[in-house]
Amino acid sequence: MDPVLARQTMVNEQLKARGIKDARVISAFLEVPRHKFVEEYLKYKAYEDYPLTIGFGQTISQPYMVALMTQALMPLSDSKILEIGTGSGYQSAILSRLCRVVHSIERISALASRARKTHDELGYFNIHVRIGDGTMGLAKESPFDGIVVTAGAPYVPEALIAQLGEGGKLIIPVGDENLQDLRRITRMNDRVKEESLGGCRFVKLIGKKGWTD
Ligand code: SAH
Repeated sequence: MDPVLARQTMVNEQLKARGIKDARVISAFLEVPRHKFVEEYLKYKAYEDYPLTIGFGQTISQPYMVALMTQALMPLSDSKILEIGTGSGYQSAILSRLCRVVHSIERISALASRARKTHDELGYFNIHVRIGDGTMGLAKESPFDGIVVTAGAPYVPEALIAQLGEGGKLIIPVGDENLQDLRRITRMNDRVKEESLGGCRFVKLIGKKGWTD
């Protein structure tokens, strides 16, 4: 497998073909080596059109889903972003190419350590991975320009809306264990605007303001 070629094919056939048009988002997907975020025996499948296991019952999302969430977040080069659910660290790596700083929270410490190691090896130094329950957000680093939740929530945790800055966007899958609705919630003055971006299926968001373990 030639990873450069594999990324070009992924971008053309999975992202552009389905309406991912943002030039900055496309260039991040061409740059980030997705095969470094999966285990050795799965590397040959890293650029395929589906999620892959990363151990501990968790998955690295399908490339298109990562792109859809990233584009919906509309990150700018000076943005400060929070991700809930570091997993492999791939989504945070994509965001790190587009923003000033990315904070990411993961509840499984072994996944957090592995993601940190991958980020270090790639020289992605503007990502800060923490171990903890992301359903409470990260008050001390707030407000955020954007928050992306990469696990399925039973409802929207209120702390996440509270930690958005003016005009900030929260991207979150909300629903039951099998199917969720991907939502974009934008904070505007004291109001919130809510949009649906379609159906999706994520692993469970487990925490104080999520599913129980
Ligand atoms: N964004 C990841 C995919 C995440 S899979 C990637 O790019 O690979 C969802 C992750 O969310 C899992 O690793 C799971 O352990 C984590 N998770 C679930 N509930 C969480 C919570 N309350 N706080 C932090 N992480 C959580």
